[in-house]
Amino acid sequence: MSAAAEEHGHPPTHDESAQKQPRGRGSTIADVVFRDPEPVDDEARAIRVDVARLLLRAPTLPLELPMFGFRLVDVALDKGGVDLLLGWESPVARLRVEAARKPEALVELGKGPARPKVVSTSIVETHAAAARIRAGMAKLAERVEGAVTQEVWERAFARAKDHLKLPVGVPVGFYRQIIAGVGRPEGIIRVGFRCNQDCGICWQDRDWGRFGAEQTLRWIEDFGAAGVRSLIISGGEPTLDPDLERYIRRAHEVGISQVTLETNAIQFHKAGYVERIRDAGIHAAFVSLHSGDPEVSDAITRAPGTHARTVKGVLALLAGGVDVKFNAVMTQEGLDHLAGLPDFIHSTFGAYRAHVLGLMLSYPAESYDPSLAPTIIPEPTQLRAVLRETIARAVALGVPLNGLDSPCGAQLCAFDADPRFASPRPIPEVVDFRNIYLPACDTCAVKRACFGLRDTDVKLYGEACVAPLGASPRLA
Ligand code: SF4
Repeated sequence: MSAAAEEHGHPPTHDESAQKQPRGRGSTIADVVFRDPEPVDDEARAIRVDVARLLLRAPTLPLELPMFGFRLVDVALDKGGVDLLLGWESPVARLRVEAARKPEALVELGKGPARPKVVSTSIVETHAAAARIRAGMAKLAERVEGAVTQEVWERAFARAKDHLKLPVGVPVGFYRQIIAGVGRPEGIIRVGFRCNQDCGICWQDRDWGRFGAEQTLRWIEDFGAAGVRSLIISGGEPTLDPDLERYIRRAHEVGISQVTLETNAIQFHKAGYVERIRDAGIHAAFVSLHSGDPEVSDAITRAPGTHARTVKGVLALLAGGVDVKFNAVMTQEGLDHLAGLPDFIHSTFGAYRAHVLGLMLSYPAESYDPSLAPTIIPEPTQLRAVLRETIARAVALGVPLNGLDSPCGAQLCAFDADPRFASPRPIPEVVDFRNIYLPACDTCAVKRACFGLRDTDVKLYGEACVAPLGASPRLA
């Protein structure tokens, strides 16, 4: 995964040092003028027209198809095939076109000889009005199956792949932004969304396109010009980008003194890689490690065997003298083992204690796949018990904990607003992805210091999300 990129739900806002530091004010945040690229919509549209032309000889989109009784409204492309969107003003059905699984099936069209079928089709009705055009859609499906040759399909599918590389429909703020809620100018740049893990907790689609290295470098320069001195390079998994060293070096060239890499560390087990990235100038690595238990970790990352590789990569980073901070997302599926994580860190990496900066505990962001929420969002009562135990183990072992009271952390009552890990000061600014307070919060002594709840939590667990706290000498 891009390790931390996954848990830093959008907007990604982790605060690695807020704990025990006075909170700043939102007004200190730099005003960055980003030189954003031109929208890719025209390029993407041209590709869709190309595909329509190849499959249906359609010269433009939308296209009237009077012989079938509807219109080809648009074309949708994904890594598995092509959807022809059919309807009138807007689509009411999709004709799915994919490579035929059994090419031995024969098709005949017109007077030509029968030949193996290259593509197969299926119709998905998305509106009740589609019933009116079933016969026409069946005819069109037959026409497509009969007309598309191997060569045509390969060309169309190649164009579909071109389309997938474009960042169509992905907000530009996902690629570069100032981190909200931390009270100091800190930037984050995402080089793309490709990853060698596939965490269910991730808020990103692994297939989102990217803008490319030159644009990434331009944004880094923009951060530097605005006076940002701390930058996080993230993804996806940024170590999969062959230009990573260039990004790090460019950051330093434009005056950014602290460059942190968000990573799952898998690539760092490769010989020489630590040295290359270290010498380019990273300040620290922020490594996702959601559990000390390999099975639990691999289940969370949905990438079997990668826990072991992350551990190897972290050991290589530490041996190479790179500071490492861990990030664990408190997911429901990992909750039973969370309290064991400080012990795992202590026993596995304790020999490099001077370079272990600590463990950040992050709350899950809204997943790209919302259906996963029940396996991801921690049940509040269990979370409170587990956090007490986790904090106790971390304190006992001397593993520094961070981030619990940051925008990426939990509501303060999830850890009793423990004054060792919660600032008593009012939040520096509201963050829009967690500004829900329940009626019970009005009686809570730490409300002004709490960023609040996330929408998904409240939908899943309602009132159980909160346990209002009484006045405390340190947190009133
Ligand atoms: S009761 Fe409400 S205001 Fe208090 S810590 Fe919990 S979520 Fe925050």
